[in-house]
Amino acid sequence: MRIGFVGLGTMGAKMAERLLKAGHDLVVHNRTRAKEEQLVALGARRAATPAECAAQRDLVITMVADTPDVQAVVLGDEGAVLGMEKGSVLVDMSTISPTTTRRLAAALAEHDVDMLDAPVSGGSEGAANGTLSIMVGGEEKVLARVRPALDVLGKTVTHVGSIGAGQVAKAVNQVILAGTYASVAEGMALAQAAGIDVQAALRALGGGAAASWVLENRAGNMLAGNYPLGFRTRLHRKDLGIALAAARDLGVAIPVAAFVEQLETSLVTQGFGDEDVSNIARVVRRQSGLDE
Ligand code: NAP
Repeated sequence: MRIGFVGLGTMGAKMAERLLKAGHDLVVHNRTRAKEEQLVALGARRAATPAECAAQRDLVITMVADTPDVQAVVLGDEGAVLGMEKGSVLVDMSTISPTTTRRLAAALAEHDVDMLDAPVSGGSEGAANGTLSIMVGGEEKVLARVRPALDVLGKTVTHVGSIGAGQVAKAVNQVILAGTYASVAEGMALAQAAGIDVQAALRALGGGAAASWVLENRAGNMLAGNYPLGFRTRLHRKDLGIALAAARDLGVAIPVAAFVEQLETSLVTQGFGDEDVSNIARVVRRQSGLDE
């Protein structure tokens, strides 16, 4: 397919690389233009703006940080919509507000461009290995047109409902992860303070009911007190903000997610927002006397 890819951050760079290696015709754009060079070296062409990146493409993928950022790269002065052909598809794979997603889809429909929301779970490892879990909102017949590209990026590509439904599913994912990160951090602090063989304990736990992606992939960070990316704490806090707003609108109480959002606010304020979200262990370890 002829694909335009906007946003070459932790996730986007790895996803764009997979699309190139699968043989797709790729044009890339990133706000910090230097990040395009690694993809150009692999055979991509570069574009100076999102609009230029979207020209003569069947599919445009956006993978940027937050809701206003997607609005800027899609509808801004040099936004993708200005370059997109009638009948082409925009797939936003960032994690953003479901309400704004629906507004973006309506704006694109006025230009005869279809939109899907397709946020992902599976971390930077999933982006590199093509093992993401992709949650898709929008029309199934539109998904069928772009599925060959999404299948390169995800182990599972699941249609979860109409436009915006993918973002709601992702908010649920982030609420579940909030509790998991906090609980794994507490468990690791307890194991370390007790002085047991933590690696042996991790092997035992990984085969039981406490097994999780966080335990398997991030307990090591928590034990070492070292939090390389991964997934930025400020981005997970952003996602919990989306989930808390939805919960408030629906009258649903999610106090654990609210608590973790506050811990993350504290980490961001202290300057740790660009570390991996496993740094929630900083709070737990300090409270337990494991760190100063
Ligand atoms: P990241 O490393 O912070 O990269 C963010 C990307 O967005 C960069 O390319 C950045 O450009 C671009 N960007 C930000 N604001 C922009 C703006 N106003 N205009 C144009 N471009 C802008 O983030 P990431 O980890 O790749 O995450 C991307 C999205 O995926 C987020 O919505 C995140 O919540 C979601 N996600 C992340 C993970 C993960 O494990 N990392 C997992 C699942 C989902 P610059 O290079 O110029 O800053």
